[in-house]
Amino acid sequence: MDIKPFLDIASRDHSHLCPRQILGVRIGLKGLAVCDVDASSKAKHLLVISETDGCFVDGIIAATKCTVGHRTLRIEDYGKIAATFINAKTNQAIRISPTLDVRERANLYATEEKRRYFAQLQAYQSMPDEELMTAQEIELNFNIRDVISRAGKRVNCEKCGEEIINERERIIEGKIYCKPCAEGGYYQPA
Ligand SMILES: [Zn+2]
Ligand SMILES: [Zn+2]
Repeated sequence: MDIKPFLDIASRDHSHLCPRQILGVRIGLKGLAVCDVDASSKAKHLLVISETDGCFVDGIIAATKCTVGHRTLRIEDYGKIAATFINAKTNQAIRISPTLDVRERANLYATEEKRRYFAQLQAYQSMPDEELMTAQEIELNFNIRDVISRAGKRVNCEKCGEEIINERERIIEGKIYCKPCAEGGYYQPA
């Protein structure tokens, strides 16, 4: 498969094309293939979880057309170059990550290039899938239906009064709370 059009999309909004974008495109295309989704179509039943933000996820978006805005992409920030592809119809989930020694392997595919960065840039585009990445079937620790939720669901937090959509509320002793009020969140009043 010619990955150039996807690399063009990934690097369009950047000033550069980097190895992580290429990994994102390659892993994204592999994810589509294992979930049996055509790269030219937009799959509504596909949910992608990326384990980092940044250049890698731009590659994932270019290959899969999944986005945060369409609620087909989520970031679970472990600071890892890895992503899981979930077929929401079948609940099948495949996690794909680069082979642990992918950088060493890359050197073997770009022997002329002594600069590691540029060797990766070349090799990641041409290495066979099995050299570049590992795909593993996984079991999710959450219910996919809970994550997707239903349109139009809304309640108000009984503590702060703010509206909560997508069934993200917590119920404690019969009262409805938002996550930060119930469990603490990423902020507190200054
Ligand atoms: Zn980059
Ligand atoms: Zn609240």
